[in-house]
Amino acid sequence: MPTDCLFRDDAYLKDCSATVLGITDEGGVLLDRTVFYATSGGQPGDRGALVMANGNKAPIAGAVYVDVAKAEIAHVLDGAAARPEIGASVTARIDWTMRYARMRMHTALHLLSAVLPYPVTGGSVGDAESRLDFDIPEAGLDKDEITAKLAEMIAADAEVRSRWISDEELAANPSLVKTMSVKPPMGTGRVRLIEIVGFDLQPCGGTHVRRTSEIGAVRVTQIEKKGKLNRRVRIALA
Ligand SMILES: [Zn+2]
Repeated sequence: MPTDCLFRDDAYLKDCSATVLGITDEGGVLLDRTVFYATSGGQPGDRGALVMANGNKAPIAGAVYVDVAKAEIAHVLDGAAARPEIGASVTARIDWTMRYARMRMHTALHLLSAVLPYPVTGGSVGDAESRLDFDIPEAGLDKDEITAKLAEMIAADAEVRSRWISDEELAANPSLVKTMSVKPPMGTGRVRLIEIVGFDLQPCGGTHVRRTSEIGAVRVTQIEKKGKLNRRVRIALA
């Protein structure tokens, strides 16, 4: 049964009530609804806990999609955590400090892809550091210059908004897709577009802050050559 993914419409939800629908062989708890982002698109799944009606907590080490269609999420119990009963009512609560850092990072990566308008071949959102890999025909990238451009976009306090478009609309606008390695999930009939007003527009299923000012200070920490045409750009929250 598909999980109702509340984080897609409101990334700021820290917890929600839910019902335990089942437990996978690997110890993944299936809920009817969740605020846990599941690993995908270079962003790791959330950690947190399931809080039982009696107050007991089952720590959750991460969240992953069970199926390729990314419809159902398993909340992976941390080692020795007691399994909740099927049918039990729980509160699903994420580690908000970690998630919010990832939301700031993830949104900063959108800005980075706008500063460097080249095809993206890979990427990863971390708590301390994140990166994007670009197909760039020539070198000559300057860390301080990119950092300054990011700072301008962050200071502009641009709104970050989302809307859904149909698979057909996306197919008719292939230039929207910047990331060659991570194709947007198509086949469900709709795709979510993330717009950073004035700077960036692309399909994305991740979690973002509402305004660029929330990102705070970031800096480019390293630019690595990963091949003739490939540059890896790392950023960190300052
Ligand atoms: Zn995104």
